[in-house]
Amino acid sequence: MTPAVFACRVCDSHDLVPVVDLGNQPWCNHFLKPEEVGKEPFYPLHVLFCRACHTSQLDFTVKKEIMFGDHTYLSGVTKSLSEHFRQVAEEVDRAFFQNRSGKAVLDIGSNDGTQLKHFQALGYEVLGVESSRTTARIAQEAGVPTLNDFFNEEVMQKIGRQFDVFNASGVFFHLEELHSVCRAIRAGLKEDGVFIVQFLYMKSIMENLAFDQIYHEHLLYYTLETVGTLLRRHGLEMFDATLKPIHGGSVVGYVGHKGKRPVTAGLRKMQESERESGCNTLEAYRKFERRIQKMKEENLAYLHAAKKAGKRVFGFGAPVKGNTLLNYFGVGPELIECLVEKNALRRGLISPGMHIPLRMEEEIGEPPDIYYVLAWNFKEEILRNNQALQERGVEFYFPVDPDHTLA
Ligand SMILES: [Zn+2]
Repeated sequence: MTPAVFACRVCDSHDLVPVVDLGNQPWCNHFLKPEEVGKEPFYPLHVLFCRACHTSQLDFTVKKEIMFGDHTYLSGVTKSLSEHFRQVAEEVDRAFFQNRSGKAVLDIGSNDGTQLKHFQALGYEVLGVESSRTTARIAQEAGVPTLNDFFNEEVMQKIGRQFDVFNASGVFFHLEELHSVCRAIRAGLKEDGVFIVQFLYMKSIMENLAFDQIYHEHLLYYTLETVGTLLRRHGLEMFDATLKPIHGGSVVGYVGHKGKRPVTAGLRKMQESERESGCNTLEAYRKFERRIQKMKEENLAYLHAAKKAGKRVFGFGAPVKGNTLLNYFGVGPELIECLVEKNALRRGLISPGMHIPLRMEEEIGEPPDIYYVLAWNFKEEILRNNQALQERGVEFYFPVDPDHTLA
């Protein structure tokens, strides 16, 4: 629940202002069975900006046990993600630990062990900590030692040893126990150890108008400046970073104990570019909100015009983030007949909040007049793979297009 006076998750300040209001939304990661329709709970989805440390964050926490107790998202399933994890493991090993024997790595939110398998291949002793029972079991069965728990200070004490490498890919903005986790990393990281932190980059989200990355799992939206503030508070410091295209713009940061390693020219350059962009200011967030409101108006105008013209519109794909978009725009089955999906595990399910039915690709028969593409960040790939449909006159509409929404 939101406390009466909300304190910043990073710096404890009470000086926060609302900047992006996406309304009340259901938990977007749970597609509904027919008997669950209309019973799904809604939670506030509001982004606040901290005027003291500039971190943007959600003001409401859906309990971690609801969201992460038994999720079934498997990172190994996505080929491009596994390839990204392989690169990360190889880069950190080559740069820092190539000739070390007895090296060890701990992965926070280790999922099905995909990241750790790449470290095993490089000779590391590995340990995963994963909150989902099902996913932890899959990792164990695949030969990746995994604790089924939420990583924090107590768990670190139980583990009772130090590691050369810590990895946290995409969990660092989920964390309800942020400071406990940071203290645990500080305690468990060897003197010259490296913590690899991977997070969605708020600067990229703003530039790409990727507001659909805002959902209840993502409690925090970092920039280099704000993640730096958090790390310093715990005696840690980022000394190098790279920008990767994963999830429409993610940072892979390398972190050590404060003052242990020199800050690279590459990181200084990224920090400079961030300062120039102004993305850590309240004005930038105000502009971001104006642009996504305008995008909502443009999308609704387009869909209503299509309906008036008697055109059939199907959703293309059913990514989790698509639910943020559909719920914020208020787009339901009266405008989009169904979401066309390949994943057979989702057969017969219905989208949370807006209640658009999912249909399997092979079931739809005649294609619609318009495909409304929820996985808009794969624009080029989708257009390339669907040339035959376009030649038959099917239009592909991309709801988020930063080139078209320049409020
Ligand atoms: Zn703050």
